[in-house]
Amino acid sequence: MDTRAYQQINQSTDNSVCIEMDLLQVGSEPVGMRCPYCQEDIMTRAIYKNSTITHIVAAVLGVLFWWLCCCIIPYTTKRWKNVEHNCPNCHKFLGVYERTRVI
Ligand SMILES: [Zn+2]
Repeated sequence: MDTRAYQQINQSTDNSVCIEMDLLQVGSEPVGMRCPYCQEDIMTRAIYKNSTITHIVAAVLGVLFWWLCCCIIPYTTKRWKNVEHNCPNCHKFLGVYERTRVI
């Protein structure tokens, strides 16, 4: 029991360090930057992906406003989606902006 708990803490520490080292701090919109892979000045290409938040919002809206079919709204708006940033020049993955809040 104790050993397992320790391993989990260890793993999460490793992951956060890895993300800090490898991924850039990016927001929800495309950003201008120098690509670390091809060294070009680029505007990142933002790709919107459904996240856990998207599904939670869809579920909540679906339950509350099922008569309006609101549950499709989260899938059609960027607001609750994760955003992946890629380099338009070399197509490398640069970083991800993860939604952690619904509002
Ligand atoms: Zn690049």
